[in-house]
Amino acid sequence: MAAYLTLKNINKIYPNGFHAVHNFNLEIQKGEFIIFVGPSGCGKSTTLRMIAGLEDISNGDFLIDGDRVNEKGPRERGIAMVFQSYALYPQMTVYDNLAFGLTLQGVDEDVIEGKVQNVAKILGLTDYLDRLPKALSGGQRQRVAVGRALIRKVGIFLMDEPLSNLDAKQRVTMRSEITQIHQRTGSTTIYVTHDQTEAMTMADRIVVMKEGYIQQVGSPYELYFNPVNVFVAGFIGEPPMNFASGVVKGGKIKIGENTVDLSKKLSAEQIKEYEGKEIVFGFRPEAVVLGEVEGAAVINASVELTELLGDNTNVYVDIQGVKSILKIDPHDTPETDIDIKFSIPQESIYLFDGETENVIK
Ligand code: ATP
Repeated sequence: MAAYLTLKNINKIYPNGFHAVHNFNLEIQKGEFIIFVGPSGCGKSTTLRMIAGLEDISNGDFLIDGDRVNEKGPRERGIAMVFQSYALYPQMTVYDNLAFGLTLQGVDEDVIEGKVQNVAKILGLTDYLDRLPKALSGGQRQRVAVGRALIRKVGIFLMDEPLSNLDAKQRVTMRSEITQIHQRTGSTTIYVTHDQTEAMTMADRIVVMKEGYIQQVGSPYELYFNPVNVFVAGFIGEPPMNFASGVVKGGKIKIGENTVDLSKKLSAEQIKEYEGKEIVFGFRPEAVVLGEVEGAAVINASVELTELLGDNTNVYVDIQGVKSILKIDPHDTPETDIDIKFSIPQESIYLFDGETENVIK
């Protein structure tokens, strides 16, 4: 039932001439859960809407199960979509909201009843079928919206920021519910969000976009551990990766007043190539170890602020002018205003070309 999708060199140029999506290429496997992520305006909703058939594709080819569907309307594509504003019919019960699409299609009442009960069971809405939307919590309303899309039994399921109207706690619950629904239905799913945590926790593969261009496509693991550039490295992970720029001199760079030897990260040729050039040094807040560790990059810094979060503490430090965040064990929380030493293991150091911002491999 699930479909596979092919996006070949898809572009979107709006009538006002704005080029919102550039040469978007992606193969989506049957049953995959794909998340488009990126900051506001990067083109993720535009791409989703082109897939849905709600927006014309300016050029390129979009194929479902190998058939080009550029000219097909939304109904003919076998797609169901859940939007950010999941407006339910306020005067209709949950049952009627779920049944509405099928009733319009003239489906037999008994068949509708069976389908509504089934979807309600999957979504935990069985006890709420007689209620009006106003008597539901935000999360329950969201589930009804998902249910309306699910009931159509389509091969492709699209969701555009479906959790953005929920509070933080409901979002966490719905995240795992949507993942479970996906596992149960097996539909090919494309989900749009600007929230990297949603992307990391739910996706089989993430597509990171910026200003209309794909930056990287990969599993959450790949994006976290092997970001291709500064943008992806800074976008995935919370708090974000710390960066410091420096010019390479004699195979070393300075992070604040600390000298870091790059010879363990770069080959002799690379050190030669980058001599006198700027590189961006990156490390994740959670990768540091307090104190001095043999073989690691050791950094002196002063503590400006600490935030105890329970499972860890975020320590805001100043490395002689370079601001960074360290995520450490709460039991090791340092006092503010003191000087500390921390170490960054070699495998946790990322180096990027200062000009292209691409990772140096
Ligand atoms: P958000 O998270 O804010 O929804 P997005 O990544 O989904 O952002 P899109 O809605 O796809 O972004 O918009 C991409 C770009 O295209 C934006 O710069 C937007 O201003 C522009 N855009 C969207 N719709 C139109 C339109 N009808 N005409 C011209 N430009 C548009």
